[in-house]
Formats: sequence, C-alpha cells, structure tokens
Amino acid sequence: MAKESDNACQGTTLVVPQTRQNETGALAPEANFSLKNPIPRARVRAMKEYHPPLGSRDALRLDFNENTLACSPKVCEVLGSISAGALTRYPEREPVEALVAANLGLAPQQVALTNGVDEAIHVLFETFLEPGDELLLPVPTYTMYEVYASATDASEVAVQAADDLEFPFERLLAAISPRTKIIGIANPNSPSGTAATRAQLIEIASRAPHAVLLVDEAYFHFHGETMIDLVGSVPNLIVARTFSKAYGLAGLRLGLLAGPVEIMRWVRRVLSPYSVNSLALACLPPALEDQAYINWYVSEVLAARGDFESALDAAGIRRWPSRANFVLVDIGPQHAEFVRLMRAGGVLVRDRSGDPGCDGRVRITIGTREQMRQAARALHETVSALKLQTSKHAP
Ligand code: PMP
Repeated sequence: MAKESDNACQGTTLVVPQTRQNETGALAPEANFSLKNPIPRARVRAMKEYHPPLGSRDALRLDFNENTLACSPKVCEVLGSISAGALTRYPEREPVEALVAANLGLAPQQVALTNGVDEAIHVLFETFLEPGDELLLPVPTYTMYEVYASATDASEVAVQAADDLEFPFERLLAAISPRTKIIGIANPNSPSGTAATRAQLIEIASRAPHAVLLVDEAYFHFHGETMIDLVGSVPNLIVARTFSKAYGLAGLRLGLLAGPVEIMRWVRRVLSPYSVNSLALACLPPALEDQAYINWYVSEVLAARGDFESALDAAGIRRWPSRANFVLVDIGPQHAEFVRLMRAGGVLVRDRSGDPGCDGRVRITIGTREQMRQAARALHETVSALKLQTSKHAP
C-alpha cells in the first residue's frame, strides 16, 4: 500500500498512486486520475485569507475586545470536573439551548447556539444570500461580515459613517432596496463603539420587511440596551449574542442567534448540529448562573473606561464616545509606530487604519482599572516618545 509520502505533489497536479485499496480492502482497478487545478467558485478566488494578528500576545491584551481577565470561577470548576468519558460523546445542544432561551425570556425554538457569533453570521448569510441579493452594512463595522459576505454571490452595499462615526441612520434607510436581503448592524458597533437607538432599529426593520435585520449585540453587557425582547414580535429581527466578551469565553467559541421560529427553522437547516462542542455546552449553565460575576466585570470595565477616557482627554487624544469595552482613538499618521511602541511597553492595541474612514485610528480594549492604569502609563510614554501632535486631535 502506498505511504502518504509516496503522493507526489507536483505544482498544481496531485499525482495519485496507481494502485489503491478501496474501503473493503480489495484492490481497485488502476486509479490513474489526476486532479488538475480544482477551481473554486469565482467569489472565493477573489477572496483573501483573513489572518487576524493573534500571534505573540503575551502582554496586556487590549487588542481583541476580549474579557482581559478570566471567566467566572464557577465555569472553571465545571471545566475541571469534565471526565474523559464525557468527551467520547457527541455534544447534545438542545437542553442547553432551552436553558439559554429561558434565560433570555424566549422559547427554545427561537434560539440557536453557534460556534461564536462568527458562525452565526456565516450560517445566516449562507441561509439567505443569493446572487443578486444585497447585504446592507453601515461601515466601518465588524470585519467578518465582509469576509463571509464575500464568499456568497450577493453584493455588499456599504453605507459609510460620517467623521463622528455615529450610526448613519437616514442614509442607511435610503440605501434599502428591493434587493436588500440582510441588514447587518453591530450594536454597539466595532471599531467605533457608537450605537443605534432601539427606535432607529425598529424603524429599519419596518422599512425593510423583505429583509432580515441582524442586530449583533456582541457588546450588549457594556451597553445595557437590547432588542432581544422584540424577538418574535418584529417578524424580520434576528439578534446575535456572544459569550466571548463579558463572559470571558472567547476560547470556547460560543454565540447564539435569536429570532422568529420560522426564520430559525431555515437557519437550522444550514447550521451544523455539532458545531458547539461539549466543553462549551458544559460551561454555559454555570456562566449564565453566575450573574454576579458578569455584573462585577461589567462595572469594573465601565469604571475603567471612564478613567481611561480621562487619561486620553488629558493627553489631548481625540476619541469617539464608546458604549462598549473599547475606545477608538485618533493617532494620525504615526498610528503604526504608536501600536509598536505600546507593544514595546507591554500593551497590545489594534490598528484600525485599514477600516473604511478610519485612517490613523487605533482601537483600545478596556480591561480592569488596574490594567488600564498600566495602559495609561504606556500611553503617556508612547505619546512623549512620538512627540505626538495631540493638540490638533483634541476633541
Ligand atoms: N460581532 C462583533 C461586533 C464583534 O466585534 C465580534 C468580535 N470581535 C464578534 C461578533 C465575534 O464574536 P465571537 O467571538 O462570538 O465569534
């Protein structure tokens, strides 16, 4: 039998060994085939690989808007008690889905757990977007909408926010067309930290009854406003939530979609029944139960955000008002050097210059007050090392 190393990969031609055994062990007739340039779909050929800068993050992580500390200790207890035998089973999501639904005041059929909100976005796009359809997005916004949209045959209609990065409500309404199939709104938005109001979102849903309105509430806990109570009564509203932010479970990959039963039935056709693993499912009940931990973490971050915003103002750095666990700041032409010097000072921050309308802007996650004191020290050192012309960036 041919060893793996016998398969010679020559350029784009995979040469398959000439004699092979089939599954029953019998020798197959000469399988002298070669796969030449398997060509992916045109839209995939036009895509670039997306590699977020996740390497070498052994520093204060203010770059990915994660919880910067830990998850609830109750989650760790459960994780530590999982047996080897439990891992041999396929994950059963329904009981946990029912628990999460009850926690949100919804019916189990209205909620689907996902492998992070990223999978939720992917599945929703795969469920609805056809050639000729439009995905309507206010930009700048969360990168993965564009990544997953670019793999579909739909087109993206981007509505650029003005310099204040406030939600471009009127222009978004004007951009709704008969072809609009999904409107994706992160609320609060990233990287801006600004938010749409409930009244605006309700208006959008009613002006686009032929489209799904996805309201991505990844940063809900820091904002406190939600649309989840309208799930089911607004017929085209879908809300996404994640356990990656306040809950501190980004590594477990846990998110959810909540929507009307009819829409969720379509979504479940596309969603893998196995995509949320059993460790994540085991951790969800204690995570939801420990509301005291979430309350503590959120109040810590909100206090730290106020302190850090004061430090930014004192340094004369322009910032955008934030409803989330991060702040977007305007560094100007020295943005890359700023990020590099902050890293040298032990603090990771995220350059968002590549985002539409964000040239020179850097996003800084907010952690605990103690962590943000460290960040403020690094900020001061960086600002003076760069001799940053901050006065022209002052609010
Ligand atoms: N939505 C928004 C608006 C986000 O900023 C992020 C993460 N940065 C996500 C979704 C991704 O969440 P998850 O980790 O659950 O995939």
